[in-house]
Amino acid sequence: MMRHTHFLRQRGKMLGGLVLLAVLTGLPLRADEPNPSRAFYNTFTDEEEMAMGRKAAEETEKQLPILIEPLLTAYVNHLGQKVAKESHRPQLQYSFKIVNTDAVNAFSLPGGFVYVNRGLLEFVNNESELAGVLAHEIGHVVAYHSMNDVARRSLVDQGMYQLQKAGLVNDQQMADMMQRYGGPMLLFVDRKFSREEESEADMLGMYNAIRAGYDPQGLVGFLARLSQFVGNPSLVEGLLMNHPLPGERVKALRAELREHPAPSGLEKDSIAFRAARLQLKALPPAPPPKKQP
Ligand SMILES: [Zn+2]
Repeated sequence: MMRHTHFLRQRGKMLGGLVLLAVLTGLPLRADEPNPSRAFYNTFTDEEEMAMGRKAAEETEKQLPILIEPLLTAYVNHLGQKVAKESHRPQLQYSFKIVNTDAVNAFSLPGGFVYVNRGLLEFVNNESELAGVLAHEIGHVVAYHSMNDVARRSLVDQGMYQLQKAGLVNDQQMADMMQRYGGPMLLFVDRKFSREEESEADMLGMYNAIRAGYDPQGLVGFLARLSQFVGNPSLVEGLLMNHPLPGERVKALRAELREHPAPSGLEKDSIAFRAARLQLKALPPAPPPKKQP
């Protein structure tokens, strides 16, 4: 697939820029750190993507219980912004919100709308784990995973329309095909990512977390703990469904870190994280789940 191989091809081109950046930030960045670009068929601009994401976010927030706790939301949003600023798409207007449910999960919508379940905030051990998860979700946005998908579907829709206009398909055939290939596109919440997309979001997320000053063992430790739940139905089921194969992903990230060790002295935890956790504990329990992503 284009987006998974292109950074290998761009390795040479990127070398100069990244070496300069490494010098500026003092981080030992690898020359082939993934830096994805839009798929060639994805012609949506950032503005269009953000508008689409905003629409999807409005729909999502009608369906899900968003936790309205200004201090907690401010903490998660602040951490998210700090990470997003160091991502490969810092120009997007990111937002980070908490969903008031115990299921351990997180997801992102195109344009930078990121949601973290209350259950995940309770599951992570420290701030670097949370930063790693947020960075992973940002990684899906950075790599255009959902938007490339939307672009593909929209191409199919346009193709269908042309066929219908040319009289090559009738209305019923058109409707059937739309159902199969096109149709409503704002189903991002249930979007299942492929193995390649997960690895790409992990790799992007890990480097993003390092750039933001966080210990990459945060994401690794989180995934390692998650892998203990594989095959064991539990609260983390949703997360495993949307983000499969944590065991393999841990191996890949550890191998990467062996080859390209992260600088020492990166942040593991913070007082703000501990304070947020105490505040979380003091809240009334989450409402019983209805339909969860
Ligand atoms: Zn993911």
